[in-house]
Amino acid sequence: MATTISMSPISSSSPSLAERLDEVRAGVAAAAAEAGRGVGDITMIVVTKFYPASLLRELYALGVREVGENRHQEAQAKAAELADLDLGWNFIGQLQSKKAKQVRAYAHSVHSLDRASVIEALGSSDGTTIECFVQLNLTDDPGRGGVQPADLERTTELVLATPGLELLGVMAVAPVGEEPRPAFVRVREASERMRRLAPGARYISTGMSGDYREAILEGATHLRIGSAITGNRPTAG
Ligand SMILES: *Cc1c(COP(=O)(O)O)cnc(C)c1O
Repeated sequence: MATTISMSPISSSSPSLAERLDEVRAGVAAAAAEAGRGVGDITMIVVTKFYPASLLRELYALGVREVGENRHQEAQAKAAELADLDLGWNFIGQLQSKKAKQVRAYAHSVHSLDRASVIEALGSSDGTTIECFVQLNLTDDPGRGGVQPADLERTTELVLATPGLELLGVMAVAPVGEEPRPAFVRVREASERMRRLAPGARYISTGMSGDYREAILEGATHLRIGSAITGNRPTAG
Protein backbone atom coordinates (compact mmCIF):
# COMPACT_ATOMS: atom_id res chain seq x y z
CA MET A 1 0.00 0.00 0.00
CA ALA A 2 1.42 3.35 -0.99
CA THR A 3 1.16 5.82 1.84
CA THR A 4 2.82 9.12 2.43
CA ILE A 5 5.03 8.76 5.43
CA SER A 6 6.09 11.89 7.22
CA MET A 7 8.49 11.39 10.02
CA SER A 8 11.51 12.94 11.56
CA PRO A 9 14.59 12.53 9.37
CA ILE A 10 16.68 11.85 12.47
CA SER A 11 15.13 8.59 13.54
CA SER A 12 11.84 6.94 12.89
CA SER A 13 11.79 5.53 16.40
CA SER A 14 12.49 8.63 18.50
CA PRO A 15 9.23 10.23 19.58
CA SER A 16 8.55 13.86 18.82
CA LEU A 17 8.12 16.57 21.41
CA ALA A 18 4.35 16.41 20.90
CA GLU A 19 4.35 12.64 21.42
CA ARG A 20 6.41 12.86 24.61
CA LEU A 21 4.19 15.62 25.94
CA ASP A 22 1.06 13.59 25.17
CA GLU A 23 2.56 10.57 26.87
CA VAL A 24 3.32 12.50 30.06
CA ARG A 25 -0.13 14.13 30.03
CA ALA A 26 -1.67 10.66 29.75
CA GLY A 27 0.58 9.40 32.56
CA VAL A 28 -0.48 12.29 34.79
CA ALA A 29 -4.16 11.63 34.04
CA ALA A 30 -3.72 7.92 34.79
CA ALA A 31 -1.97 8.61 38.09
CA ALA A 32 -4.63 11.16 39.08
CA ALA A 33 -7.34 8.58 38.35
CA GLU A 34 -5.43 5.97 40.37
CA ALA A 35 -5.26 8.45 43.27
CA GLY A 36 -8.97 9.31 42.93
CA ARG A 37 -8.03 12.93 42.22
CA GLY A 38 -9.08 15.37 39.53
CA VAL A 39 -6.43 16.14 36.94
CA GLY A 40 -7.53 19.77 37.14
CA ASP A 41 -6.01 19.99 40.62
CA ILE A 42 -2.57 19.20 39.25
CA THR A 43 -0.40 21.81 37.55
CA MET A 44 2.25 20.50 35.20
CA ILE A 45 5.28 22.76 34.90
CA VAL A 46 7.58 21.88 32.01
CA VAL A 47 11.22 22.33 33.02
CA THR A 48 13.07 23.89 30.11
CA LYS A 49 16.49 24.62 31.62
CA PHE A 50 19.39 24.54 29.13
CA TYR A 51 17.01 24.61 26.16
CA PRO A 52 16.72 27.62 23.88
CA ALA A 53 13.67 29.88 23.78
CA SER A 54 12.64 28.23 20.50
CA LEU A 55 11.77 25.03 22.39
CA LEU A 56 9.48 27.01 24.69
CA ARG A 57 7.71 28.40 21.62
CA GLU A 58 7.12 24.84 20.39
CA LEU A 59 5.81 23.84 23.81
CA TYR A 60 3.55 26.88 23.86
CA ALA A 61 2.10 25.86 20.50
CA LEU A 62 1.35 22.47 22.08
CA GLY A 63 -0.61 24.11 24.88
CA VAL A 64 2.03 24.39 27.60
CA ARG A 65 1.58 27.52 29.73
CA GLU A 66 3.70 26.89 32.84
CA VAL A 67 7.47 26.57 32.54
CA GLY A 68 10.25 26.08 35.10
CA GLU A 69 13.82 27.31 35.11
CA ASN A 70 16.58 26.87 37.68
CA ARG A 71 19.13 29.54 36.72
CA HIS A 72 18.27 33.20 37.07
CA GLN A 73 20.21 34.61 34.13
CA GLU A 74 18.91 32.01 31.73
CA ALA A 75 15.34 32.44 32.96
CA GLN A 76 15.50 36.23 32.78
CA ALA A 77 16.81 36.16 29.19
CA LYS A 78 14.21 33.65 28.01
CA ALA A 79 11.35 35.51 29.71
CA ALA A 80 12.43 38.70 27.92
CA GLU A 81 12.71 36.93 24.57
CA LEU A 82 9.27 35.31 25.01
CA ALA A 83 7.46 38.31 26.45
CA ASP A 84 4.89 38.06 23.63
CA LEU A 85 3.63 34.69 25.00
CA ASP A 86 1.50 34.41 28.14
CA LEU A 87 3.79 31.89 29.77
CA GLY A 88 3.89 31.48 33.56
CA TRP A 89 7.46 31.38 34.88
CA ASN A 90 8.37 29.27 37.88
CA PHE A 91 11.79 29.64 39.44
CA ILE A 92 12.81 26.21 40.80
CA GLY A 93 16.57 26.47 41.48
CA GLN A 94 18.90 27.82 44.11
CA LEU A 95 18.51 31.56 44.37
CA GLN A 96 21.15 34.07 45.45
CA SER A 97 19.90 36.82 47.75
CA LYS A 98 21.34 39.55 45.57
CA LYS A 99 19.37 38.26 42.56
CA ALA A 100 16.14 37.55 44.44
CA LYS A 101 14.40 40.86 43.71
CA GLN A 102 15.09 40.50 39.98
CA VAL A 103 13.23 37.17 39.91
CA ARG A 104 10.05 38.97 40.96
CA ALA A 105 10.10 40.84 37.65
CA TYR A 106 9.37 37.76 35.52
CA ALA A 107 8.42 34.80 37.77
CA HIS A 108 5.03 34.32 39.43
CA SER A 109 6.40 31.64 41.73
CA VAL A 110 9.59 30.52 43.45
CA HIS A 111 9.71 26.86 44.52
CA SER A 112 13.04 26.84 46.34
CA LEU A 113 12.94 29.07 49.42
CA ASP A 114 15.23 27.69 52.09
CA ARG A 115 17.31 30.45 53.66
CA ALA A 116 16.41 33.49 55.73
CA SER A 117 18.65 35.71 53.60
CA VAL A 118 16.84 34.72 50.38
CA ILE A 119 13.39 34.96 51.97
CA GLU A 120 14.10 38.45 53.27
CA ALA A 121 15.63 39.55 49.96
CA LEU A 122 12.68 38.21 47.95
CA GLY A 123 10.15 40.06 50.08
CA SER A 124 8.74 43.39 48.95
CA SER A 125 6.59 46.16 50.34
CA ASP A 126 5.42 47.49 46.97
CA GLY A 127 2.00 45.84 47.22
CA THR A 128 2.74 42.98 44.81
CA THR A 129 3.06 39.34 45.86
CA ILE A 130 5.01 36.38 44.54
CA GLU A 131 3.97 32.79 45.20
CA CYS A 132 6.44 30.73 47.22
CA PHE A 133 7.15 27.20 48.28
CA VAL A 134 9.52 26.26 51.09
CA GLN A 135 11.91 23.59 49.84
CA LEU A 136 12.49 20.61 52.11
CA ASN A 137 15.80 18.81 52.05
CA LEU A 138 15.04 15.07 52.22
CA THR A 139 18.72 14.15 52.58
CA ASP A 140 21.39 14.81 55.22
CA ASP A 141 23.51 16.67 52.66
CA PRO A 142 23.21 20.43 53.22
CA GLY A 143 24.50 20.99 49.68
CA ARG A 144 21.25 19.63 48.22
CA GLY A 145 19.25 22.75 49.01
CA GLY A 146 16.17 22.98 51.17
CA VAL A 147 15.51 23.21 54.89
CA GLN A 148 15.88 20.24 57.19
CA PRO A 149 12.44 19.06 58.36
CA ALA A 150 13.19 20.34 61.88
CA ASP A 151 13.48 23.89 60.52
CA LEU A 152 10.15 23.84 58.70
CA GLU A 153 8.10 25.74 61.30
CA ARG A 154 10.70 28.46 61.76
CA THR A 155 11.02 28.96 58.00
CA THR A 156 7.25 28.96 57.54
CA GLU A 157 6.90 31.67 60.18
CA LEU A 158 9.56 33.78 58.50
CA VAL A 159 7.82 33.55 55.11
CA LEU A 160 4.48 34.46 56.73
CA ALA A 161 6.07 37.48 58.39
CA THR A 162 7.73 38.74 55.19
CA PRO A 163 5.64 41.18 53.12
CA GLY A 164 5.10 40.44 49.45
CA LEU A 165 5.30 36.64 49.74
CA GLU A 166 2.30 34.33 49.35
CA LEU A 167 3.09 30.95 50.85
CA LEU A 168 1.68 28.13 48.69
CA GLY A 169 3.24 25.10 50.35
CA VAL A 170 6.23 22.76 50.32
CA MET A 171 8.54 21.61 47.55
CA ALA A 172 11.01 18.72 47.46
CA VAL A 173 13.18 16.60 45.19
CA ALA A 174 13.15 12.85 45.93
CA PRO A 175 16.60 11.66 47.04
CA VAL A 176 18.66 9.82 44.43
CA GLY A 177 18.85 6.08 44.95
CA GLU A 178 15.84 5.79 47.25
CA GLU A 179 12.28 4.73 46.66
CA PRO A 180 10.43 7.96 45.90
CA ARG A 181 7.11 7.10 47.49
CA PRO A 182 8.27 6.99 51.16
CA ALA A 183 10.11 10.26 50.52
CA PHE A 184 6.85 11.81 49.26
CA VAL A 185 5.05 10.53 52.36
CA ARG A 186 7.52 12.60 54.40
CA VAL A 187 6.72 15.63 52.23
CA ARG A 188 3.00 15.13 52.81
CA GLU A 189 3.61 15.00 56.57
CA ALA A 190 5.64 18.21 56.36
CA SER A 191 2.81 19.80 54.38
CA GLU A 192 0.38 18.92 57.18
CA ARG A 193 2.73 20.55 59.71
CA MET A 194 2.99 23.68 57.58
CA ARG A 195 -0.80 23.91 57.31
CA ARG A 196 -1.13 24.10 61.07
CA LEU A 197 0.67 27.44 60.85
CA ALA A 198 -0.56 28.47 57.39
CA PRO A 199 -3.91 26.81 56.58
CA GLY A 200 -3.90 28.14 53.01
CA ALA A 201 -0.49 26.67 52.18
CA ARG A 202 -1.96 23.44 50.86
CA TYR A 203 0.09 22.93 47.70
CA ILE A 204 2.83 20.35 47.20
CA SER A 205 5.50 20.71 44.51
CA THR A 206 6.98 17.23 43.98
CA GLY A 207 7.26 14.89 41.02
CA MET A 208 9.77 14.90 38.21
CA SER A 209 10.19 12.78 35.09
CA GLY A 210 10.93 9.54 36.91
CA ASP A 211 8.61 9.81 39.89
CA TYR A 212 5.55 11.89 39.06
CA ARG A 213 3.17 8.94 39.52
CA GLU A 214 4.34 8.36 43.10
CA ALA A 215 4.22 12.10 43.73
CA ILE A 216 0.60 12.32 42.54
CA LEU A 217 -0.34 9.35 44.71
CA GLU A 218 1.04 11.28 47.72
CA GLY A 219 -0.74 14.51 46.96
CA ALA A 220 1.48 16.51 44.60
CA THR A 221 -0.31 19.52 43.16
CA HIS A 222 2.59 20.91 41.12
CA LEU A 223 4.80 18.67 38.98
CA ARG A 224 8.15 19.84 37.59
CA ILE A 225 8.82 17.66 34.57
CA GLY A 226 11.77 18.09 32.25
CA SER A 227 13.47 15.29 30.37
CA ALA A 228 10.41 13.03 29.97
CA ILE A 229 9.02 15.81 27.76
CA THR A 230 12.06 17.57 26.34
CA GLY A 231 14.29 14.51 25.91
CA ASN A 232 17.75 14.39 27.44
CA ARG A 233 18.96 17.87 28.28
CA PRO A 234 21.89 19.46 26.54
CA THR A 235 24.67 19.97 29.07
CA ALA A 236 25.14 23.32 30.77
CA GLY A 237 26.86 25.76 28.46
C1 LIG B 1 15.73 19.82 36.40
C2 LIG B 1 14.76 19.86 37.51
C3 LIG B 1 13.53 19.18 37.41
C4 LIG B 1 13.14 18.32 36.22
O1 LIG B 1 13.87 17.14 36.23
P1 LIG B 1 13.56 15.93 35.18
O2 LIG B 1 14.12 14.74 35.85
O3 LIG B 1 14.27 16.30 33.93
O4 LIG B 1 12.11 15.86 35.01
C5 LIG B 1 12.64 19.30 38.47
N1 LIG B 1 12.94 20.03 39.57
C6 LIG B 1 14.10 20.69 39.70
C7 LIG B 1 14.35 21.47 40.94
C8 LIG B 1 15.05 20.63 38.69
O5 LIG B 1 16.21 21.29 38.82
